[in-house]
Amino acid sequence: MSTLFAGISETGETRFIGDVPSGLACGCFCLSCSSRLEAKKGTVRIWHFAHVAGQERPECLAGALNLLRRLALQILSTSSPFPIPAHLEHVTDTRPHIYGRRSISKAIESRLMLASGAAITWADSFGPKALPPRTHPIGTAPLANGAQLEIFVDVRAENLGTSLGDEAAGNPNAFKLLCWCPAPKPGEVTSTKIATEYLQHALRWIWIYFPDKDGQRSAALAEVNALADEANRRLEAEESMRKQQRQGMLNSTSNTDAFEQLRRFALSPPLVTPKSVQGWSWAPDAKPHASFFLFPLKDGGAWVVYQTKAGSVRVLPWPNRWDGWDEFFPPSVALLEPNRRSLIAKDVTTVTDFIGNLRKGTFNDSDPSKLPGFPPDL
Ligand SMILES: [Zn+2]
Repeated sequence: MSTLFAGISETGETRFIGDVPSGLACGCFCLSCSSRLEAKKGTVRIWHFAHVAGQERPECLAGALNLLRRLALQILSTSSPFPIPAHLEHVTDTRPHIYGRRSISKAIESRLMLASGAAITWADSFGPKALPPRTHPIGTAPLANGAQLEIFVDVRAENLGTSLGDEAAGNPNAFKLLCWCPAPKPGEVTSTKIATEYLQHALRWIWIYFPDKDGQRSAALAEVNALADEANRRLEAEESMRKQQRQGMLNSTSNTDAFEQLRRFALSPPLVTPKSVQGWSWAPDAKPHASFFLFPLKDGGAWVVYQTKAGSVRVLPWPNRWDGWDEFFPPSVALLEPNRRSLIAKDVTTVTDFIGNLRKGTFNDSDPSKLPGFPPDL
């Protein structure tokens, strides 16, 4: 359970528990319900604020997270120039995967620029006013491509917090960038200084909505689909040739040679092995035809990363749960599942960026049985 680690002063300024004197002298109020707060700075429990009258409600804890969100906005709005991160995307073919054909994908990278002379307009984060809700942009700017940039800030633990629910809502032509930070652990953030350092370390940028304004995505999709069509035609032709061969041999079974040929043909392995429709017991949530990435590490151990049906990314220690796997990633990159069997992350890029130079290679296959170390012991 989280603790109330921040309140607001009479003038509406954010105060963390370590910033104020003990007891009622703290002079703080709950951002959510405006109750008077008492600073509890004992030696047994984690330092926290308590409501003087009545009980705190779940909204009150959300109010403390909102204060962290406001501090994040203060950091962003005072950092200059504001760096717009590049948008990376893998476009994958949408054609049928006949005869076990692998997916064909292409990486595209886009960079956005602010309109000439434009600056970001930030929501007021210093006054006593509450921030707009997390589903509203707290920073906007005109882009050089004529569209609008919208910046959202969210501090949240559940479901990785990397989605606002309906990303296309609001302005459907705006490019939407989310600055996300995981909620701190109880007792992790006790002062403005520590909160600032925590945010600077844990903030992640995620593009949550990236319209295909210049047609780059549709062009890449047309390209991979054309390649997929070509591959499908080739596979169909190969299969139809096999059928003809089979028919020809059946028609001349009186011929001993042909009969021997047919026997060999029946014993030979099939041209392509169709992928199991059940998938893999250790990866039951894998998206059909998804790529499995394997990253062996220089110091031993390895990671396998694949996309799930739900659209997030599963991160598995490979080929077993090696020592220290559960402490490898910070929660801002990948979160340990409650069953402590695997991790979940937002995207492959964030995970590979973090692994960086610690890996000694990369394998990528839509058939995990081709990966070194298969079958895993998970
Ligand atoms: Zn309250």
